[in-house]
Amino acid sequence: MKRRDFVKVIFSTIAVSGLGGKLKIMAGNKSSFPVAVGTWKHSKGAIEKAKVLLEKGFRAIDVVEKSINITECDPDVMSVGYGGLPNEEGVVQLDAAIMDGATLRCGAVAALEGIKTPISVARKVMETTKHIMLVGEGAKKFALANGFKEENLLTDRARERWLEWKRNLNKNDNWLSPDQYHDTIGVIILDSKGSMATGVSTSGLAWKIPGRIGDSPIVGAGSYCDNQAGGAVATGVGEEVIRVAGCHLIVELMRMGWDP
Ligand code: ASP
Repeated sequence: MKRRDFVKVIFSTIAVSGLGGKLKIMAGNKSSFPVAVGTWKHSKGAIEKAKVLLEKGFRAIDVVEKSINITECDPDVMSVGYGGLPNEEGVVQLDAAIMDGATLRCGAVAALEGIKTPISVARKVMETTKHIMLVGEGAKKFALANGFKEENLLTDRARERWLEWKRNLNKNDNWLSPDQYHDTIGVIILDSKGSMATGVSTSGLAWKIPGRIGDSPIVGAGSYCDNQAGGAVATGVGEEVIRVAGCHLIVELMRMGWDP
């Protein structure tokens, strides 16, 4: 394939999709390499970081990880990493996934506790094991064995919000109550060589049942990318995304020629 044709394929197919209602689209043959797209306002710092790294010639997969780390470590972002809102027992459980569009290699962690940067643990899973997803205690043990530091991820602010939620519970509440606070960071990077990578990281739905896993760590649901077709990342109520295997569906439709 000639580079020109490659550019055409990639740029008509890059998408960021918010399946929870908002749809953010990035498309068009007018763009030029490289490209960085992120979900929500809280990806601003991540995308600024991505810009710097892309200008220095970093690979898409590195840029995805390093840019998402910015948001994960920001205590003011209450739906991702450190400072994320906890589950119903007051424990922060994090989900993340990363995918390399050149090789289709991917890694994910789910319900991971005590580690600030789940996207980096997901990358370790991808690069140093033959598995794709590690969950809960196993994911944490793996992270610690790989030099990640255990930290308290529940900030005072998040704890206060959790206590307030608990104070306002009443006997009619159930697990079917309306959705709570949530917002995943999802990033799609197309690097200067035309390779793509995607990543997502989240604390999931606030006050979730312990052990609940959303779409984000499920490759094909919360994110997917393939250099030959495009990439998609999702944010919104994960159960809705999982139901339709959202991101894989989007990428396959783009492969069939659909506009992002
Ligand atoms: N998709 C995430 C989840 O369900 C939440 C979000 O993106 O807002 O865990």
